[in-house]
Amino acid sequence: MSEDCIFCRIVDGDIPSRSVYEDETVMAFLDANPLAPGHTLVIPKAHHETLADLPEDTGARVFEVLHQLAPEIEAAVDADASNVAFNNGEAAGQEVPHVHGHVIPRFEGDGGAPVHAIAGDRPDLSDEELDEIADEIAGRS
Ligand code: 5GP
Ligand code: ZN
Repeated sequence: MSEDCIFCRIVDGDIPSRSVYEDETVMAFLDANPLAPGHTLVIPKAHHETLADLPEDTGARVFEVLHQLAPEIEAAVDADASNVAFNNGEAAGQEVPHVHGHVIPRFEGDGGAPVHAIAGDRPDLSDEELDEIADEIAGRS
């Protein structure tokens, strides 16, 4: 628990929320400033700032709940699809430093965009650079 974390305070019940799911490890509630009806946040109850900070089993539970809730949320608001995304770190737009997955219901013709719209200028990478990056990620270099 972090005293000055909004989401820890929601977990503790100090700040009210529209809860839609809760178990020992994970909680989900409606976003206070929804991008679409049904916009939901899925969080670990324990305070961890980014995905890299999450213990593996907690991360697995967060994903299990996202997997369960996404279709239920879509059905509840009659959505056609959803975007499921994490702003993972401040430079990626994360404002609340407590891991949270967004489930944003999407509707045909809603004027929104795919997740590809979130990045800045696209890099022009050579085949060699792509090979190097893949090797670096895979630990082959
Ligand atoms: P981020 O930009 O960190 O990925 O998203 C934080 C989200 O938390 C935003 O979509 C914002 O609307 C939501 N949010 C911020 N404060 C509160 C709050 O007190 N209650 C709820 N339910 N959502 C909040
Ligand atoms: Zn927190």
